[in-house]
Amino acid sequence: GFKTHSEPLAKIPSSKRVNVLEEFEKRSGAKPKLNLVVIGHVDAGKSTLMGHFLYALGQVNERTMKKFERDSQKIGKGSFAFAWVLDETGEERDRGITMDIATNHFETQNKSFTLMDAPGHRDFIPNMISGTAQADAAILVVDASINAFEAGFDAGGQTKEHAVLARSLGVQQLIVAINKLDTVSWNEARFKEVQAKLGAYLVQVGFKKNNVVFVPLSGLTGENLVKKSEIPELTSWYKGTCLLDQIDKFSPPMRLLDRPLRMRVTDFFKGGIGSSGGVSVAGNIESGTIQVGEQIMIVPGGEIGYVKTMQVNEEPATWAAAGDSILMTLVQLDILNLSNGCIVCTPSRPVPVTGLFEAQIVVFDIRIPITPGYPVVLHHGSLDEPAFVYKLIEVLDKSTGQVIKNNPRCLTKGMTAKIQIKLSQRPIPLETFKDNKQLGRIMLRKDGETVAAGVVNEILTFGS
Ligand code: GDP
Repeated sequence: GFKTHSEPLAKIPSSKRVNVLEEFEKRSGAKPKLNLVVIGHVDAGKSTLMGHFLYALGQVNERTMKKFERDSQKIGKGSFAFAWVLDETGEERDRGITMDIATNHFETQNKSFTLMDAPGHRDFIPNMISGTAQADAAILVVDASINAFEAGFDAGGQTKEHAVLARSLGVQQLIVAINKLDTVSWNEARFKEVQAKLGAYLVQVGFKKNNVVFVPLSGLTGENLVKKSEIPELTSWYKGTCLLDQIDKFSPPMRLLDRPLRMRVTDFFKGGIGSSGGVSVAGNIESGTIQVGEQIMIVPGGEIGYVKTMQVNEEPATWAAAGDSILMTLVQLDILNLSNGCIVCTPSRPVPVTGLFEAQIVVFDIRIPITPGYPVVLHHGSLDEPAFVYKLIEVLDKSTGQVIKNNPRCLTKGMTAKIQIKLSQRPIPLETFKDNKQLGRIMLRKDGETVAAGVVNEILTFGS
């Protein structure tokens, strides 16, 4: 049972309870935040497209861009200039491919985005997955030039693989950027052909038709990126909006505000803010809201405490909401009840603590197949815990999502599967992806390499 508190609450500063949802709406500049990932076959033009897009939005200063242009001309790869906006390290430039997930921020009229540029090179699939695992929406870039779309779409291409990965990792909203249409003179029939083939496929793997839009554009010429194209070859048949306007229409993960409080603790230490008593706790609010004077619960452990003071972005605040990073002073709580990876919750709706759960995963490029008993390090937010694959339930078809094998003996590279995972040492706070996107995503690593990633389907045991 939970510890009860007989101490009076007189020490808690009585604060006027605010309607956090209302305050949140009023907060200046509080545009909803989304994580956006860019996926697609290698050479589809992802880097050029997003580099040009950020440049056109004014996110890259003229001087930097001029330097990019000079540098890229020097090595005879002029068109790479835009791609370099995203790739910052020299090694990547020499090889002409995007290696790391470079993150960039940009704002549209109504939303604020963190762009995670996912590389398309085969070797870098793990990076792409960690970017995708945090994404609220995706842009799938396809090369519409002759034969190129087919190369990316058919066997061996990454277009389908990336689309399924995104879907498996919980991405529901998609813009398909039909790129390089300059190479086919903005031919409507080609656009329609790519749209029809890809559209049918995306619906088949579980995207809702209404959540997928197709935008014709050219990352190189910049046509239809941040303003509606005016070239007659395109306007004669395309009546839709530009990429920027479509991005602005992505639905933010706003409903998280109405959900129970979940704050991942990233740091904690003795003593409150401003050398007062209590315990300082820092972290990111994944869902819900919190305010001064409120009662909270620490999970695991179930210890109850109270919020005495808080800071959001290093400024004193009386409340905070999903998306905020905060530092707060908790009182009537023993620091011994805090641990790495613990979660601050609403006492009436605490996060489940489990030692066994079912997940749907995508297996990466591994050499040794995954069999029952396979040991892993389970990554969940800031937490890394020893765990092992307990049971292999079924293998799903990579393209259709249908069950193709029950009780498989092993899982190999590239498979999508349902499995059970058991924690080796202690149960951890975890939620299903359905209940909480942020707390429902996991990664499995072994010997320092990511071997799989996915979402939590079901919590199988509660408590220890
Ligand atoms: P990524 O591997 O998907 O990031 O692709 P890049 O952005 O590196 O582009 C691959 C190649 O396609 C480069 O040579 C680009 O210059 C070229 N490219 C990219 N976008 C376009 C486009 O819209 N039109 C044309 N004609 N070429 C493009």
